[in-house]
Amino acid sequence: MDELIYLDNAATTPLDPQVLEAMMPYLTDRFANASSTTHRVGRIAAEGVERARKQLATLIGASPKEITFTSGATEAINMALKGIYRHYQSKGKHILTCQTEHKAVLDTCKYLEKQGAEVTYLPVNPDGSVSLAALDAAIRPDTVLIAMMYANNETGVLHPVGEIARIATKNDILFFCDATQALGKVEVDVTQTPIDMLCLSAHKFHGPKGVGALYTRRKRKPIQTGALLHGGSQEQNLRAGTLNVPAIVGMGAAAVIARDALGKHHAYMNALRNQLEHGLSVIAETQTNGNITSRLPNISNITFRHLRAQEIMVALPHLAIASGSACVSGDREPSHVLLAMGLKPEEAHASLRFSLSRYTTSDEIMTACKQITEAINTLRQKSPVWQLFQAGLLD
Ligand SMILES: *Cc1c(COP(=O)(O)O)cnc(C)c1O
Repeated sequence: MDELIYLDNAATTPLDPQVLEAMMPYLTDRFANASSTTHRVGRIAAEGVERARKQLATLIGASPKEITFTSGATEAINMALKGIYRHYQSKGKHILTCQTEHKAVLDTCKYLEKQGAEVTYLPVNPDGSVSLAALDAAIRPDTVLIAMMYANNETGVLHPVGEIARIATKNDILFFCDATQALGKVEVDVTQTPIDMLCLSAHKFHGPKGVGALYTRRKRKPIQTGALLHGGSQEQNLRAGTLNVPAIVGMGAAAVIARDALGKHHAYMNALRNQLEHGLSVIAETQTNGNITSRLPNISNITFRHLRAQEIMVALPHLAIASGSACVSGDREPSHVLLAMGLKPEEAHASLRFSLSRYTTSDEIMTACKQITEAINTLRQKSPVWQLFQAGLLD
């Protein structure tokens, strides 16, 4: 374990020590229920929660009352999509999303289809981008929601959220944006981009796991979603259940750090990601997947042709990397994101995702490049498929 180089930050990030420090009092002395405002220790917990709400709101340019705490992005996605579908049925049952969304969005849409929703899954271009003309053309009079992510979790490709938001506004359609990968990597500001609802998750930006939030715009017209969980009046009746105070406080602390050092962290990760891609460019028959001019600074998705991601990972026991996303990497299915971008199943199976964080070091990247290059050369030398390819018998 001690030599492990962790390049799987799109799955989860390590906790920032300052975040842990901010959380500690709420795991010990300040343990009270934030709803127990009849006593001082309860009010102290409630103050911790409200401070975090302000910190998180500041990170995205929202106001605190627009933030609902959840157990993570998945819950926020379920709350938003199911809530909007339920509340806007009189307007229509059509939802527009994209084939490369996270499974939390796609599976929720599949569920809603069973409830009677009609869902359009927009295709993407080979570089993972969406066509705004195709989006415009797919809008129907009964479209109630556009659900499109800020940045893709497998390739880092950024969607043109500003344009999408404008199209949604123009057509009087709600826009939900899964910004889980974007927070702490690029600027997300709902005062600049009129996103109606947005989800995020603390463990993707060096906060604790099991806590996230849903932003719901309250300024223009009120958006109705109702609750997903019932059983208490927490979170303005929108999310019942005792608040996870230490985790919420941690998310607030992580938000402050993410905002204050965004530019510095962006430049740092971008430089390391370039170092990684440059280091791996000596390997033959590789391809970087996704639009490289419009993407997050910390993700690189690379195909190593004629190999299986699985065998490459087995050959690299000191690297924590992923094929596809963590949520699907247990499956044998090739990545739905890469398939949507037009990769053949064998190419998708030959692809690895490297995701960096502000804790990744240049030395780690150097070591990783060396290990990867060696592993791939060894695997290819042993591979009958590679021999055939070298002999010109494969294309
Ligand atoms: C991680 C992730 C999620 C799920 O977040 P959880 O808080 O772990 O439920 C959703 N969408 C994207 C894009 C993600 O990267």
